[in-house]
Amino acid sequence: MLIVGCGALGTHTADALARAGVGTLHVVDRDIVEWSNLQRQVLFDEADAAASVPKAIAAREHLRAANTDVAVTAHVADCSAAFLREFATPVDLVLDGTDNFPTRYLLNDWCHQRGIPWIYAGAVGTEGAAMVVGPQGPCLRCVWPDPPAQADVGNCETAGILSPAIAAVTAFQTAEALKLLLGAIPTAGVFTCDVWRGHYAVMPVAAAPAADCVVCQHGELPALTAPPPRTATLCGRDAVQIDPPEGGGIALADLERALTGSVEGLERTTHLLRFASDGVRFTVFPDGRALLFGVRDPLRARALYDRWLR
Ligand SMILES: [Zn+2]
Repeated sequence: MLIVGCGALGTHTADALARAGVGTLHVVDRDIVEWSNLQRQVLFDEADAAASVPKAIAAREHLRAANTDVAVTAHVADCSAAFLREFATPVDLVLDGTDNFPTRYLLNDWCHQRGIPWIYAGAVGTEGAAMVVGPQGPCLRCVWPDPPAQADVGNCETAGILSPAIAAVTAFQTAEALKLLLGAIPTAGVFTCDVWRGHYAVMPVAAAPAADCVVCQHGELPALTAPPPRTATLCGRDAVQIDPPEGGGIALADLERALTGSVEGLERTTHLLRFASDGVRFTVFPDGRALLFGVRDPLRARALYDRWLR
């Protein structure tokens, strides 16, 4: 099983499924553990935040501690089209633990192409939603032909997330995952909840795919084949992710030597290099990807990346 995103959603489902004895788990996440995560990201603790451990690594260690029978593979990476194209390991199910619709539409394309089911889930404020997507559809694009604008669906930056909303939506997601693994028939429709109002429902969707769906009816893969963006802003934080220009990696030891004396707080760990400059905190991974905290403007983030990492 592949769990994409190991934040609030992904830590809840990974914890439950590892304890349930799901044999093999792949977890992918691009971020590091921070103090503000601990309110709702149940696999992590203060030691992870103090050491800025990549979430996928911290999740793997805590899952192993919970159940040594489960094989967990951690992928410290952005779940981009390139990552999915190169992900060769067969998986029988994909769980959405992301915080953004572009990645969900990538998963929708990839799972249709591979003929595997996936379970969408999202939560904002006190509300959550989830839906099982079978390889024959209806798929995410049947229900929402175009990704909604982030401003229309709200985000955790403006609305926050109440922890019980995560628990409710991942309870549905985990139960449906167990049903799919056991060969039971999954629930049809979109589960919605508002834990503050005490509202829980499954909204019906058409049983058949939309006739004009470009993915499950016409076999196009618009998200997977679109040119990839080089920058992405991270939900809920003043942070921007920058991918390396040619997809090349960075030798962190060399970069550490080059930056010594020029930046503040320079520190290299097993998994990353971090430092601060220009009021921005940099976290650099060996694949050349960087997270810049304290900046919102992607153009400024790109300029800072090019200044210090090229
Ligand atoms: Zn469809």
